[in-house]
Amino acid sequence: MTMVVLALDALDAGLVEYFDLDAFRLESSGDLETFARTQDLPYTPEVWATVATGLPPERHGITAGGTSEWDNPVLEGLSRVSGRLDESTRGTLGKFVRSQTGERERIGRTDAESMFDDDGAVVHNWPGVADGRPLQRAWDLMNAVAEGMDRSTFERELFGQCSQQFGWAREMLHHPVSIAGVHVHALDAAGHAYADDEDALRHVYTRVGEFVTEVEDALGDADDLLLLSDHGMRVEFYPPDADENPATHSWRAYASSTTNTRPESVFDVREWVESRARRDEISNSSSDADEEAIDVPTDHLRELGYLD
Ligand SMILES: [Zn+2]
Repeated sequence: MTMVVLALDALDAGLVEYFDLDAFRLESSGDLETFARTQDLPYTPEVWATVATGLPPERHGITAGGTSEWDNPVLEGLSRVSGRLDESTRGTLGKFVRSQTGERERIGRTDAESMFDDDGAVVHNWPGVADGRPLQRAWDLMNAVAEGMDRSTFERELFGQCSQQFGWAREMLHHPVSIAGVHVHALDAAGHAYADDEDALRHVYTRVGEFVTEVEDALGDADDLLLLSDHGMRVEFYPPDADENPATHSWRAYASSTTNTRPESVFDVREWVESRARRDEISNSSSDADEEAIDVPTDHLRELGYLD
């Protein structure tokens, strides 16, 4: 059995309803409580590190320091944080390396244990926990859009990256994996870029929904799928956001699962995922034992002297 965890950055609970997209509404779905600690609004690496570890930022050490989602302060809306670490904060980060150019520091990686350290668990990329490069590339892409990259190039790059991440998740279903986690930044990048363009953002949501359905269709009877977001995205055309600054993160995080429950808060996800993975491990091992007991040719073993 595999629990696939798709970290769909900025998947907005309000926009799932507004666009009326069944692809995201699995058996149990709805709001997910999230938080903001180092900025005014939920900050991507900080929240995803909490999702994977179950720990608050002061314990996993991944904060907004050293990174900025947008280099362009006009579009960022969240750029009040200087993005530089003081020495004491620096010390709390696990592996902290500079980018190849040395101009920008990479997303930190926590030393704390996460659900991806469990037996049989695997992770492709996950901010703050495993391989932050795809997120860094997605941020670079967002900056390129802000600097005038045309939409067809943007979407080609965006969906190209996205398809690799969803393809990896599907492949894991063919292997003895307990938990398979991957972070997908497409909806956040598109949400920032298309916060004023309803049709364009609807198209991206619909396409990402198709990727989700492909994973859902690939699930075996014992497999499960969990969709999560860290926050949503405020957009110009969504009535509840009328007085808000578009292209900033909303509080409308989302959770959806193929089981009859879902996590209620980003702090509960690790426990929720692990308890299901463990329950399956236990039922698998007991059924294995049963099968073995039935299959053992006891008479033959007795003849060979292995049994009295
Ligand atoms: Zn995010």
